[in-house]
Amino acid sequence: MSKQDLGLPRRLALVVEPLPGEALLSWLNIMSAEHGGLTRPQTAQITGVLAGEGSLYPLAHGSALYHPHAAKVARIRAATALTESQVAEMFWHRYRGTVLHPLGSRWVDETTRHTLLKWWIDPNALRLCPRCVDISGGRWLLAWQLPWVFVCPTHRCYLVEACPTCGRAFTAHRTNPVLDAPHRTPLPNSTQWGQCSAPARELPTVPVQDNELLALQQRLWDALHAPAEQRPEPFGLFQDLWAMACLALFTAHPEHLDGADAVVREAFADYCRAHDGTAGRRFTSAELRGLPVPVHAAVIRTAARIVFGEDPLAAADAVAGLSRDPHSTAIVALRRAWHSSPLRFATRENTARIETVMDVAKYSGPGLAPSLKRRSPTAASATVLCER
Ligand SMILES: [Zn+2]
Ligand SMILES: [Zn+2]
Repeated sequence: MSKQDLGLPRRLALVVEPLPGEALLSWLNIMSAEHGGLTRPQTAQITGVLAGEGSLYPLAHGSALYHPHAAKVARIRAATALTESQVAEMFWHRYRGTVLHPLGSRWVDETTRHTLLKWWIDPNALRLCPRCVDISGGRWLLAWQLPWVFVCPTHRCYLVEACPTCGRAFTAHRTNPVLDAPHRTPLPNSTQWGQCSAPARELPTVPVQDNELLALQQRLWDALHAPAEQRPEPFGLFQDLWAMACLALFTAHPEHLDGADAVVREAFADYCRAHDGTAGRRFTSAELRGLPVPVHAAVIRTAARIVFGEDPLAAADAVAGLSRDPHSTAIVALRRAWHSSPLRFATRENTARIETVMDVAKYSGPGLAPSLKRRSPTAASATVLCER
């Protein structure tokens, strides 16, 4: 019986090996270029990412990128002769047990878009290290799409998330740095679309001077790529940081960023100006998904000072005054974060690092305060943050 009879694709003569950590869409870009400019869906079909001539929906909407189902891995391996781990590492599922819950959403062993969004990851967001992209001919790493990665540890520069000429955000589905073709972009002061010919390669870099942020990024990078037998240690780490990042998002100010680079301080100051009101800080879930790279860097840097500090409660108090005011909005934000997904599961397996901070959230004023919805618009917006 031939491979075609088994539903397996034909073995390709020309296969480019994925870079370690490369995203599946990036690998499809380079494969399509190598195959004379096939479209990405056509490339997905010949490489076995999509089954046969069927629906293109799983690629266009990203569902083909989440879970390395056994049949899919078998198809890709039949077409490309890549190893099983080379194939599996290109899917979002690889972050199970680090930034994704080891057991998945609703305890199903499946990674989906829903799983990612719940854990602060927008699968369509794309950030690039200009130097890495130049060296590799336009390829990107899946880790760059995580909110936990804001700096390239190799080149000590901030990741770039938008075209510096027109300001249009890069996206995993529409940006193709391999081809480096002009991209569609909204025309200024108009509802029309135009073409911008600025390259997605040879982007200007913003160097990182902030050694604290570099050390943090290296630590997160190592945790992200920890071998499976060392988990769930990294998962606990990301949970603790997530909880404290929630706190920083609602309560931190630029003065908490001493030693940070100007690009981070200024972006966080803009963020505060845009979202601070008389009743506290507010934002919509869409705004949360679209936080700029330097704002992620700011809140995770602030969170890390608490999580890795000698006295996490004192560090948290320096940001939010938690133990001074048992009814502060910060406590509500934190408690909701802790008891909602994704932190709902944290108490069972997280580390004791931030126990003292979480005790304040647990034991300060529960039942004494009005319900979250009646407290204040800020407190209500905490729900938005945590139930995504
Ligand atoms: Zn780099
Ligand atoms: Zn542009």
